[in-house]
Amino acid sequence: MPAQRTGRRADVVIVGAGILGINQLYRAVQAGLSVQLLEQGAGVGGTWFWNRYPGCRFDSESYTYGYLFSAELWQEWDWSQEFAPQPETERYLNYVVDKFDLRRHIRLDSKVTSAVWDEAAGEWATGTEDGFQVRSRYLIATTGVLSVPQYPDVPGREDFRGEAYHPVRWPREPVDLRGKRVAVIGTGSTGVQIAPAIADEVASLTMYQRSATWATPLNNHPISAAQQAYLKANFASIKARLDASVGGFLHQPAGKKWTEDTPRQRQEFFEAVWNSPGFAKISANYDDLVVNPEANKDWCAFMAGKIRGIVRDPATAEKLIPTDHLYIGLRPPYVTGYYEMYNKPNVELVSLRETPIVKVTETGIETSDRLREFDVIIWATGFDFGSGAMLRMGVVGADGLRLADYWADGPLTYLGIMTRGFPNFFFPGGPHGAAGNNPRYGELQVNFVQDLIDHAGARGRRRIEVPKADEQAWMDMIAQLEAYSPFQKRGQYYGANTPGKPKAYLLNPGGRPKLDEFMAKAAGSGYEGFFA
Ligand code: NAP
Repeated sequence: MPAQRTGRRADVVIVGAGILGINQLYRAVQAGLSVQLLEQGAGVGGTWFWNRYPGCRFDSESYTYGYLFSAELWQEWDWSQEFAPQPETERYLNYVVDKFDLRRHIRLDSKVTSAVWDEAAGEWATGTEDGFQVRSRYLIATTGVLSVPQYPDVPGREDFRGEAYHPVRWPREPVDLRGKRVAVIGTGSTGVQIAPAIADEVASLTMYQRSATWATPLNNHPISAAQQAYLKANFASIKARLDASVGGFLHQPAGKKWTEDTPRQRQEFFEAVWNSPGFAKISANYDDLVVNPEANKDWCAFMAGKIRGIVRDPATAEKLIPTDHLYIGLRPPYVTGYYEMYNKPNVELVSLRETPIVKVTETGIETSDRLREFDVIIWATGFDFGSGAMLRMGVVGADGLRLADYWADGPLTYLGIMTRGFPNFFFPGGPHGAAGNNPRYGELQVNFVQDLIDHAGARGRRRIEVPKADEQAWMDMIAQLEAYSPFQKRGQYYGANTPGKPKAYLLNPGGRPKLDEFMAKAAGSGYEGFFA
């Protein structure tokens, strides 16, 4: 039932105090609106509150990931490393919340379980698991694309008597892994980040790998005093470059194609790329890497050579080299000491392609060849990506339309932030929104939402809904450009890792240029058709 019409009210209800929720809250408060932010967790930070696992850190450069809405904040906050670890990012987000006096708008431990549009009142009625109810003109879900943990449907998973963790639900109190026999299931970005961080302290570490991935070095380093001074002195130009960049990074595109170089030049170039930071492996690689399979294969051969050079046991090295996809066929992870870790005597790699899991027992994991016993199992098995959190909020729009029904075949969105039939409902950072450094995409979307709300407020408009044609145009763009996506259809970006989820593309294949284009068109027309 919708919350009572009498009772608690706010102009805006925001769900989720992650990086975008805090940004949206900042904008709404600046605009003079009353805001209630509801956060499921016991603290702010979203991804950076929940993911406390050892080794968790950015793989976008710290200063390109943080907020750009305040030059003062940029000057005050010193990132310690090129790719900051989770505790630092959590501290940063708490600092932002306190600096801008946002905490008083935030209610923690508040998991939203229902959000119902009341057409007669022109309001959303939102309720939480613990019975808190609030009505608002606008509802904004900044619930994130990577917030709902995904556990595999492995027989006996619940039978295990030892400790079991999913990295996104890593306990706040320290977990003592010293001297324990630990299994990590999954070698996506999370599994390969956690493993080298714990390999030295555990008695044994067994990695269960289904798909090998093309992991490359993160190449992290402390931010020196000189770099810090450079960052502080160049806020405006760095912001301008980030604002103009396609993926939200500062990396310089190579400006040349693989076909233009000799074999020897290619090897030298790939060596430089291997030694470059994080996502520069994509954004500063050859311009034709994604569209020319020969270029991509050559880069993969180079990486395979690196893996063989690092991992001393040839059989382990071969298992670690992907044979079923080229670079970016799956989301490539960026690692520190991952391949080197396999040279430790206490680390073992189990290929689930060769010996699949039969069941989990009370004491360990049985694969088709044998049972291995463990004290701890870490399920680094990913997320119900993109739409998972929103579809668990009980969202019901106009005419009793359930979001779960409207999206039964996959999300239908406009800019990854609105969906038809759900007036005054926005979800910046949602499915179809991003394809790169998420906060840079999300910031565009947060600003679009607040600008639209401001525009409506200034003209006395109370009901905002995306026109059918505009939603269709965005969906047509997704369908057209998705054809060029390098991602395989079996991964999270198609929802294929989540049982029962419709297979539909969940990223924005047009990148920031398409977001910019569509946003400029909407704003330029005075948001024509958006107001009833
Ligand atoms: P993921 O990329 O979906 O990887 C999940 C892993 O679990 C895959 O190796 C998968 O194998 C395996 N898996 C799933 N079900 C399994 C089963 N039934 N049996 C055996 N293995 C199974 O999830 P993730 O590693 O948590 O990463 C998710 C996203 O989080 C990333 O794409 C990235 O955007 C983000 N992330 C970023 C960072 C960072 O450095 N900033 C760190 C961590 C995560 P298959 O591939 O064969 O399905």
